[in-house]
Amino acid sequence: MALAFDEFGRPFIILREQEKKSRLRGLDAQKANIAAAKAVARILRTSLGPKGMDKMLQSPDGDVTITNDGATILEQMDVDNQIAKLMVELSRSQDYEIGDGTTGVVVMAGSLLEQAEKLLERGIHPIRIAEGYEMASRIAVDHLEHISTKFEFSADNIEPLVQTCMTTLSSKIVNRCKRALAEIAVKAVLAVADLERKDVNLDLIKVEGKVGGKLEDTELIYGIVVDKDMSHPQMPKRIENAKIAILTCPFEPPKPKTKHKVDIDTVEKFQTLREQEQKYFDEMVQKCKDAGATLVICQWGFDDEANHLLMNRNLPAVRWVGGVELELIAIATGGRIVPRFQELTPEKLGKVKKCANSRVVTMFIRGGNKMMIEETKRSLHDALCVARNLIRNNSIVYGGGSAEIACSVAVEAAADRHPGVEQYAIRSFADALDAVPLALAENSGLSPIDTLTAVKAQQVKDNNPHCGIDCNDVGTTDMKEQNVFETLIGKQQQILLATQVVKMILKIDDVISPSEY
Ligand code: ADP
Repeated sequence: MALAFDEFGRPFIILREQEKKSRLRGLDAQKANIAAAKAVARILRTSLGPKGMDKMLQSPDGDVTITNDGATILEQMDVDNQIAKLMVELSRSQDYEIGDGTTGVVVMAGSLLEQAEKLLERGIHPIRIAEGYEMASRIAVDHLEHISTKFEFSADNIEPLVQTCMTTLSSKIVNRCKRALAEIAVKAVLAVADLERKDVNLDLIKVEGKVGGKLEDTELIYGIVVDKDMSHPQMPKRIENAKIAILTCPFEPPKPKTKHKVDIDTVEKFQTLREQEQKYFDEMVQKCKDAGATLVICQWGFDDEANHLLMNRNLPAVRWVGGVELELIAIATGGRIVPRFQELTPEKLGKVKKCANSRVVTMFIRGGNKMMIEETKRSLHDALCVARNLIRNNSIVYGGGSAEIACSVAVEAAADRHPGVEQYAIRSFADALDAVPLALAENSGLSPIDTLTAVKAQQVKDNNPHCGIDCNDVGTTDMKEQNVFETLIGKQQQILLATQVVKMILKIDDVISPSEY
């Protein structure tokens, strides 16, 4: 496709090889796009909430993933429709920014599009719909702020944080151990958090899993776990007060950068080469020894010769340690990563003595199989994000669809104040917000419409924005009593991101694609 200009400077599109392209325009394009996006949202809808279903996905090479995390489902679904990919991106952005609410955001976007389709059919121009949605989303976001409350906790009183993480974990497969896992997540976050600056660096939390044992054996380790063996089986397994050389250079003789040929035609020449090589190794080991290292952690491998020498010279070593791990080891032990043997000095060695004070922690997950461990990792990631978000900003809104219902009521009321065509879009936005409580009710086996109308009526009657869907049949719809809440920024982000994507999809009126599609 090319954009060209005629003699009056008006642009026009040249479609090369016309017969090979298919083209959808105007309303047809919008409808096709909406259908694609809705299909994605429909898949995720049944996974929303504490009673949501899990999905089983198989990758092309046969790996199976079982999860109910929205971002993961979409990530692995291998969609090839461009609009469906936008939904995948949407969920990914929510995951990146907030880490939780990845299913909800897609359900919300799907429902906004569904409502938009009805408006398009009534002949309302997509731009007016987009504008109406934009206004409505601002009203909703402001209203969320209005109904939010502060969440109190401190370093000495972590129980509220634990409770929150438990809510997040309760909708996951690992909910059997939610108490223990929530405690681990909160302790890990607090270990790396700076409460005064309200900052948390999640990069300092390492999540490591090993098949075996039970989920209950999962533990938090203040320090780093590197799942590697010593390079030689006879090297000591326990080193007290280790001084660690952290190397990114390999234990091997330097290799010529350009092509060279070494002719070895006599035994003597071979001997010299060997001796030379050995000398190199010896010097390297000596440099580590001189600096005072009692353990070498190396990013690269080393061959048997070097390994043997290290063993002989009594210098235990670990090889093939990943870059990220290397960095964490350096942070934890106060050492420096050394790229050349010449640069090794005693100050650059990492010391293990005070590692207990380290700000790096590892969550060491145990479980019956790899699938379970992977899902636990994802669930713990969500819990970590929730705790981090609360430390960054401790405003919360209540969950179970209660915040969405409250916003829906507020947006509906605002629609009456708008005289223009936008009011239809604003009203549709209010209807679309109901999708979350509807899905929650449906997934819990309740009658969706009846439950929603009852809860909505109750919210209006009692003027209580905490009424939501009682998914677990606790006996009360008050989410404050049930202690089900979400962070304010997370919920606001959901509404903003969903609106943004929907506006983008609505504004596409020409789809040109290869016709094999
Ligand atoms: P997401 O990936 O969007 O976080 P989840 O499957 O975790 O999706 O579901 C989150 C939704 O479930 C939120 O709307 C939350 O308020 C709701 N929820 C979680 N726990 C409960 C509960 N115990 N009762 C009612 N609603 C709940």
